[in-house]
Order: sequence, then structure tokens, then C-alpha cells
Amino acid sequence: MKVIKLFWYTRLILIVFSCCLTFLSCNKDFDNAYWIKVQNPPTLKELQGLYDNLNLEDRINFEIDDSTFIRYKPEWSDLKVQFINDSTIYSILPLLPVGIRGRETIVVNLSNYREFILFENNEVAYYGKYIYQETDGIIHDPAFLSNGTLSLDNLLNGNTSFYSYINGKGSKLPVAGQRSANKMSSSALSSECAEYLTVMTCDWTTYCHETGQVFFRLSPVGTCLPPSEIRCGNTWSYWTQRAPVMQTICVKYEDPAPPIGGGGDGGSGENGGGGDTQGGIDISSLTEEEKMLYEETENEIRESCALNHMLQKLSTHGLKLIVDRQSGNPVYVFNTKTIIVNEYMVTRSDFVAHEMIHAFQHQNIGSTFHHHAQGLPGNINIEFERMLIQDVATNGLEWAQSVGVYFTRSDRDGFNFAVDAYIDLVEDIIATKDISLIPNFDIRYRDALQSFNRYGHPSYADSQILTTLQPVSLKMIFDGSYNCPE
Ligand SMILES: [Zn+2]
Repeated sequence: MKVIKLFWYTRLILIVFSCCLTFLSCNKDFDNAYWIKVQNPPTLKELQGLYDNLNLEDRINFEIDDSTFIRYKPEWSDLKVQFINDSTIYSILPLLPVGIRGRETIVVNLSNYREFILFENNEVAYYGKYIYQETDGIIHDPAFLSNGTLSLDNLLNGNTSFYSYINGKGSKLPVAGQRSANKMSSSALSSECAEYLTVMTCDWTTYCHETGQVFFRLSPVGTCLPPSEIRCGNTWSYWTQRAPVMQTICVKYEDPAPPIGGGGDGGSGENGGGGDTQGGIDISSLTEEEKMLYEETENEIRESCALNHMLQKLSTHGLKLIVDRQSGNPVYVFNTKTIIVNEYMVTRSDFVAHEMIHAFQHQNIGSTFHHHAQGLPGNINIEFERMLIQDVATNGLEWAQSVGVYFTRSDRDGFNFAVDAYIDLVEDIIATKDISLIPNFDIRYRDALQSFNRYGHPSYADSQILTTLQPVSLKMIFDGSYNCPE
């Protein structure tokens, strides 16, 4: 354990190169080529027209106090098309909430749900809220529409439909509600409906003044318990309930078909075949020589049984690798799912593995991943989890980074104790390869994360810790489900 520390200073210089999450703007034009391949889904223009006609902006934006507004930015570049049946095509448009306070924008975290617009052909639009299933505040399956519940509000007639998703399969969720012949809510449900069911849904908000962040949570459908408080800087932040939302179900209406679910841990690890991909990673832009260099690096990375396991899960992510001579730091660019390295870095397994782990975190966290880019809240969670995955996964390999190398503030009291506790944690995961077998793991992880906040290299460790951001990628890799020859 002590020998490890000798490497810190010599390896420190390497850290400077491997700083990673960039925050590029996403104003990429929509790729029209995408539409040519499909039969006759509505055009982007038609959907944007429908979006504008429905006045969605005004209907879903809201204010949380006199000076703070939440706006939803439609992510048109992330529009996904689903063919439901011969006559029905769904288009799913993710919505990104942004807080506006005075002239500043503030970070909005949707703790346990995602919002989107679902277009049915180019005729009907639904406002969708997908709530992840949680146990003790931990989301077990971060894949969208995989394990959780979905509500769809028909924006034309005001009717709401509820669904339950289990392993990516959606079905109608039976809800208990109050039956009535009169409308209970201000819902715009049309008068042709004779019998209604009214269901109350509860949403919660908290504003952390210290970090300037807003958090939202939804209670599971049909429940309204206050969630437990969250950490906000040096204090705790308590949730307050926003106005309860009455959702109205017209008993005679038929529910639209549930959108097709994704993710789950189907986990068969199929490679996205065809094209110039290497284990599911698109390397088509590389020269022949760069490809050779990369293949050697990838083979080295796959010598880590855990990282090989991770790459199998990552093979459906659509990860791309680009070698760019001009590139100064290895980066993972979230909006194009691309790792960019220069021709030296492409030979460095530690650099490439570092960015691959970020790609895997992106796959698991989903569309809010970029909320945790460098300097933003939760970046420390991302980098700490990444470091821990890499330290455990590369144990014993020639190219492993020194365990504890990112702990750099040795002038602070308690430094050695903190590093030793971290190294112990690494060794315990190496020994079991299964997080669920480690007693008090969550507490030890949280303590180590807090220590890293105090003693870690400033470029990784100085951002606000988000207690709601769980190490899902770590737990997915070290779940005891893979066998490695020792
Ligand atoms: Zn990084």
C-alpha cells in the first residue's frame, strides 16, 4: 500500500492530460438523411409545426417562485422514431428542463424521472413522464422505458393514461382513483366523456441556494410521501410539494399503445455488426495505421476482464473513436458519443479506458449526463466513480494507473488516512468483484467520495457532490455476473 504512494508525483503529470468531460454545444443540425430510410413517418417540419400549434411551450413551462422559471428545451436532435403498427408511428422528443432566474440559467435535476413529448403520427401529442423504479432512493435500471412507470397526457383531449414497464415491456397500469360523473380537475377533457377517474400525482421540488440548483422528483403514481432530504452544500435541502396535479382518465377512452421500451439488462452483449466497427465501436474514420494502434490498445484494455465485460455492455451505445492530431486532451464528447484522442493518446490504454468508462456512465445515466460535465455539480461523482472502476478493473495490469494517484492534497490533515481508506475500498472490490457482497458499501463509498472532495485533485474533486447520483456503472460492472480467470 505504501509503495503505491511513491508513484503519485511521477504520475501526476499524466492526470493533467486526462481531463475529460467536455461540454460542447449541441446545436447540431438535424440529420435529414435519417428520414430517407424510413417509410413515412412525419417530417421534422410537420412535428415542429404540431409542437408550435399546440403551444406546448406555454403549457408545460412553469414558475417555481416569482423569479425562477422552468423552461423546457425540446431536443429535436435526439428525436426517436418507433413503428408501433401499420398505421401508428411514434416520435419521442426528449425535453430538457432549464431553470431561469433573472438573467441566469440554473441547473435543473430531474432526480427520478424524465419528460418528453410523444407524437402519434403527426396528429396527436402526449406529454410523457417516465418515473424510474427505485428502492431506497436508488434507481436500479437507468434505461429509459425499461423498469418504471409512465404517464401520457393527451395534449388534445386532456386524458391521461398510465403504464407500467417491466424489463422494457409496457402494459396498462391499473390505478385507483375517484370515479365521478363530473370533472374533478381543470383538465381540458372534452365534454363527450361521461365518466371520469381522477388520480392525484405528487411532484416535489427543492432549491439549493448554495449550489444554485433546482431538483424535481415525482412520487410513484398514486402515492404522495415526501422524499428524503438531499445534501445541499454544507446543509440539507428539504422537498416541498408543488401544487398537486389532478390527472383525469376518461373511463371509456382507450389507451394508446405503450411506446416500445428499451434497455433493461437483456445483457446478451451482441455486437453492433457490420460497418467498420471494432467490438461495437465505430473506428471508420481512422487510417489503417491508426486502426492498428487502436486495436493493440483495445486488446490491452480487454485484458481487464471487468473492462471487457463493460465493453460488451457498451457495444450498443453507438460509441465512435476519432483520432485528431490537434486534440490536446483525451475527451469523451457526449452529444456525438465520441472519444477524441491524438495519435499518441490512442496508444495509451489508460487514457482510452478512462474515456470509455465515461461513455459507459453516459449510457447508464442517460440524457442528463452532461449536467455533470467538468465544473458542474456531480462531476466529482462521475470522476470518482470512473477512478474507482478503473483502479479495480486494471488491478495487476501493466498499464494500470497507481491506486490513489488522484489524491493530491497531501498538505491537508487526515490525508494518509483518507488514501488508505480508499485503497482498502479498492482492494475489497478486487477481492469480491461483487459490490453487493461488500458490507456497508454505500456508506464507505459515500465517505470515500467525501474524502476525495477534500483531498482529490482540484480538477476532478472540486465540484458539488450530488448524493442523488448513484454509482450505477460501478454496480453494473461489479455485480458478480462475470467470471474472470485469475
Ligand atoms: Zn474523466
